[in-house]
Amino acid sequence: MNSEQYGANSILNSPYSIRRALFPGSFDPFTIGHQSLVSRGLALADEIVIAIGINEQKQGFFPAEARAEAIHILYKDEPRVKVCTYNSLTVDFAHAVGADFILRGIRSVIDFEYEKNIADVNRSIAGIETVFLLAEPEYAHISSSVVRELLHFGKDVQMFIPPVIHEFLISK
Ligand code: ADP
Repeated sequence: MNSEQYGANSILNSPYSIRRALFPGSFDPFTIGHQSLVSRGLALADEIVIAIGINEQKQGFFPAEARAEAIHILYKDEPRVKVCTYNSLTVDFAHAVGADFILRGIRSVIDFEYEKNIADVNRSIAGIETVFLLAEPEYAHISSSVVRELLHFGKDVQMFIPPVIHEFLISK
């Protein structure tokens, strides 16, 4: 796969002045909880850049490029959603793609404690705000880590994963 396809340059080519949100995460794999957040985020931003953070030290459960490709296929008919991978500091990448804010989800007080620290640091070092959406109650128990655990033990995870993602990432 051409890694340029999911790079920052492909994002910056837009000719319009738009409100852009960066939705960073591991998305390993992308769940219906993430999908719900993207749908709701589209009411707040003209464009959402789903950015898969790559950790050079830690190989994910699914290869990052495969995660990106599956999400790209999911949103192939939604031009307001872009997908890319990145390996820099999230705030640096947010500036690189011209993001107006970072979008994150909160499922619980545990998420809140963790996210609050990061959002405070990001605002103080880079002046970028983080907008949080509370998880919809029916999705609040869904996490990529639970999905990975179930997959590890050979369980069916279709109820947690958008069908397109399941087809291109899990069942192929
Ligand atoms: P990270 O490894 O950075 O936490 P994740 O892929 O696990 O990345 O999550 C990315 C973002 O999506 C986080 O803000 C997380 O809180 C949010 N998120 C994950 N699952 C859900 C869900 N079920 N409902 C709402 N938000 C979620």
